[in-house]
Amino acid sequence: MAEKNYRAELVGVFGDPVDGNPTGVVEEAGFAAAGLNWRYLTCRVPVEKLADAMKGMRAMDMKGINLTMPHKVAVLEYLDELSEAARIIGAVNTVAVRDGRLIGENTDGKGFVRSLKDADIPLEGKVVAILGAGGAAKAIGVECALEGAKKLHIINRNVARGEELAETIRKHTAAEAEFHPWQGTAEIPADADILINATCVGLHPDVDKFPDVRYDQIRPGMPVCDVVFNPAMPVFLQKAEAQGAKVLTGLGMLVNQAALNFEIWTGVKAPREVMMEALKREFED
Ligand code: NDP
Repeated sequence: MAEKNYRAELVGVFGDPVDGNPTGVVEEAGFAAAGLNWRYLTCRVPVEKLADAMKGMRAMDMKGINLTMPHKVAVLEYLDELSEAARIIGAVNTVAVRDGRLIGENTDGKGFVRSLKDADIPLEGKVVAILGAGGAAKAIGVECALEGAKKLHIINRNVARGEELAETIRKHTAAEAEFHPWQGTAEIPADADILINATCVGLHPDVDKFPDVRYDQIRPGMPVCDVVFNPAMPVFLQKAEAQGAKVLTGLGMLVNQAALNFEIWTGVKAPREVMMEALKREFED
C-alpha cells in the first residue's frame, strides 16, 4: 500500500465570543474546493488565555490564526513582524507562520478594498466618508489611504477616538483626513465620493436600527457600503438604495478578507465564488 498522509494543516480563529463567527465555514468550503487537507478551528479563547493559546498554536504547528474580539491588539506582543497596514492600524486579525516566525497582518481593510475593486469602484484620488472610528473604521480608513484615496472624512460620536483616527491617517499616509463630531443627524460631506457605515449600528439583533445621517444628501449612483454583514442588507443600505445609491454589502468585505487569509496561509489562489456561496448559505433562513 502506498504511504498515506492523514495529517491536516491547521488554521483557525481565537476570540471570545466566537460562536457566531462564520469564517470557518467559508475557509473550509475554500479548502475543500481547492483539494487542500486543511482545517479551520473556531476556538473560544478568553482574554487571559491568549498567551497559552499562542503557545498552543506553535506547539501544534498551526500555519496561522485569525484574531477577533478581544485579541486584535493584545496579540501584538506575541508576534515577530508586522505588515505596514497592521503597524499603522495597531491591530492584527491574521497571523501567518513563516519559518517559525509569526507575522501579523490586518486583512479587514484589504478585504474591503478588494470588494470595491470587484464592484469597479476606484479609490485613486477619491474622497471617502466613514461613519465610525472603531476597529473596522480604522482598518478601512488606513487601507483606503494607502490605496490612494485623496481624503478621508471621519464621522464619529466619541471625539477622542475620531480625532485619533484622523491623526493616524494624516501621520502615516499621504491622504488628508478630517474629523467631524457626530451629534444628532450627521451631514454627509458634500465632496464625498464614497460613503461607508463602519459602525455596528444595524447589526443583528438590532436589525431595525440605522445610522442617523442625512439620507437625502446621498446622490444617485454614489457608492454606499456597510461593514455590517448580518443582516446582509441592513436598513442603512436599504435607505441608501432608495436614494439611488450603488450599494455594497458587508458580505463582500467578509469573503474577500477570508480569501486573503486563505492565500496568505496556503499560497494558493482562493476559490472566491465557492467561498461566497458558502457564506450566503449561512444567511439563508
Ligand atoms: P468597535 O466597537 O471597535 O467600533 C464601533 C463603532 O461604532 C464606534 O465608532 C462607535 O462610536 C460606533 N457606534 C456604535 N453605536 C453607535 C451609534 N448608535 N451611533 C453612532 N455610532 C455608533 O467595533 P468594530 O469596528 O470592531 O466593528 C464594527 C462593525 O464592523 C461590527 O458590526 C462588525 O461586525 C463589523 N465588521 C465587519 C467585517 C466584515 O468583514 N464585513 C469585519 C470587521 C468588522 P463611538 O466611538 O462614538 O462609540
